[in-house]
Amino acid sequence: MPFSRRAALAGVALLLAVQPTFASQAVAAAKPATARAKAQPSKVSGSDFKPSAAAIKAHMGFLADDLLEGREAGTRGYDIAANYVASQYAVMGVKPAGDNGSYLQQVPLTAYRAANEGGFSFANADGKTGALIFGEDYLPSAQARLAETSVTAPLVFVGYGISAPERGRDDYAGLDVKGKIVVFLNGAPSGFQTEVRAHYGNANVKRVEAAKRGAVGVISLPTTSSEKNRPFARGIPGYQDWRMTWNDEKGAANVRGGSAPGLVTLSLKGGAKLFGGAPATLESVLATAETPEGLVRGFDLPTNVTIQLKTEIEKRQSSNVVGLIEGSDPTLKAQTIILSAHLDHLGIHGTGPDKINNGALDNAAGVATMLEVARGFKEAKTKPRRSIVLLAVTAEEKGLIGSDYFANNPTVPKAGIAADVNLDMPILLYDFQDVVAFGADRSSIGPAVARAAGRVGIGLSADPLPEEGLFTRSDHYRFVEQGVPSVFLMTGFKNGGEKGFKDFLATHYHKPNDDLSQPISYEAGARFALVNYEIARELADMPARPSWNKGDFFGGLFGKK
Ligand SMILES: [Zn+2]
Repeated sequence: MPFSRRAALAGVALLLAVQPTFASQAVAAAKPATARAKAQPSKVSGSDFKPSAAAIKAHMGFLADDLLEGREAGTRGYDIAANYVASQYAVMGVKPAGDNGSYLQQVPLTAYRAANEGGFSFANADGKTGALIFGEDYLPSAQARLAETSVTAPLVFVGYGISAPERGRDDYAGLDVKGKIVVFLNGAPSGFQTEVRAHYGNANVKRVEAAKRGAVGVISLPTTSSEKNRPFARGIPGYQDWRMTWNDEKGAANVRGGSAPGLVTLSLKGGAKLFGGAPATLESVLATAETPEGLVRGFDLPTNVTIQLKTEIEKRQSSNVVGLIEGSDPTLKAQTIILSAHLDHLGIHGTGPDKINNGALDNAAGVATMLEVARGFKEAKTKPRRSIVLLAVTAEEKGLIGSDYFANNPTVPKAGIAADVNLDMPILLYDFQDVVAFGADRSSIGPAVARAAGRVGIGLSADPLPEEGLFTRSDHYRFVEQGVPSVFLMTGFKNGGEKGFKDFLATHYHKPNDDLSQPISYEAGARFALVNYEIARELADMPARPSWNKGDFFGGLFGKK
């Protein structure tokens, strides 16, 4: 749909109509309307930009071609993609902002994978001994720092393993996990707000907590609903897939909560074997876990286990591609708005005749969007006041690694990073009419997104897939962890979106057929570029630097104290 002034007004009306679906903070921040209008820059900037569907198609056509072999981090295919993005920056006159005057920021990586099936034996208090069976009861987890791991320790079950002082909750209360292996349930209870749930449900966050408490390892156990969403069996074929992390300046692999490594993933069947003689049955634990607050009590399991793992470890090299569009305001240009999009995908992988994971929507589409938004800024009659950093990152598919490396070792001044707008996997298979703006209502980005969406005539909706934990599953989260207010747009469920999105997740997501043979709407791509441009434009031009809302959960956890 082409942009017009009338569409913009219609969009504002639509937006007000959907406001009840916002979290309360956004509503509070967005009203009253008169105050909002006053805070707006006097010139409504950016309305001269018309993103090109043909350009989106051309970028995706190159990046998702079989020749790039699925763009896996650390491969030649990825490096060709990086070279393409750097060339596009150069064509547009975007300045290099990587290492030593180049567009590339080198990212040193450790790649690691399970070398064998591992071993898991146990002895229960009642004298019963046995071994868990690979692929039926457990899958081994690879270790980035240790080629050989052997741990013998008692087990402690800690429920969800959540420590949330702000809600008066500590799943570790009364438990001593020092020198023991912690067993926790996957995910977080359904009663938590979606982004907070994604945070507390994140395995890294849980491991860090377990390490802080002195545990020597962690084991994850499915809940009934996590098993339904991501069945244990689905992990079996890929158990030896390469994982990656970045290396510090000494060359050591960066591992969060490294003193309490993830050892294995259990199936429900494996879990039942370890709960023999426990104070509560696994069935009762799982039933409580499904309640909104999921307040599952922890306890010592009467079980000693020995876990043995072998890991294959290699050093690899990849790069982020970084460009800079300088701001026009002499003071504000020291602040940067980051536009991030992951350039990597899964590479050559799979069991069918086509093994190339082209990653057309995940995430050639996001990179194409970023390049089009960049063109919008370069060609705008009015330059952005703050500077824009274009950041194509590597190894997102390995655990948000390239973005984490940049967020920890930025090639632009860290103190100046004012916001991140992340672009990942827009589902361009339908004419989307709404978007979900993850993270927006936590900061002054919320009202900016509302203004931008209103201008484009796009509605804002609440997260329709809270169980997916999307907020911690893409690169903006690495900036959130550094205290940077961020936003990430997902195409919404209206106008056929629900079916389009769910069908994609079920049959194309992370498969070789996420390729250009899908019925991609490049017009939807252009529209997605426009709304993201308008958001970045708002953030670049608004008088006050983007800031966390008072009392916001993530602002409190990671923001400047
Ligand atoms: Zn992906």
